[in-house]
Amino acid sequence: MVEFEARLMLENTVEALHERSAFVRTGGQWLYTTGDIMTPSFAPWKPGRNESCPCGSGLKFKRCCSRR
Ligand SMILES: [Zn+2]
Repeated sequence: MVEFEARLMLENTVEALHERSAFVRTGGQWLYTTGDIMTPSFAPWKPGRNESCPCGSGLKFKRCCSRR
């Protein structure tokens, strides 16, 4: 079982993908079987241009990952 939450940025909006995935081991290899989409820990949001960038660089959003 692997549970993960990925953050992605689309059109200047930060979104989350939260999924719990099940794997089985067959012949020494892990194979993906099923996945359940879980509720993300936050709703999609748009950072302000002068806020610090959500990628964690420490730069302002407008100077980092912001795309106009
Ligand atoms: Zn950034």
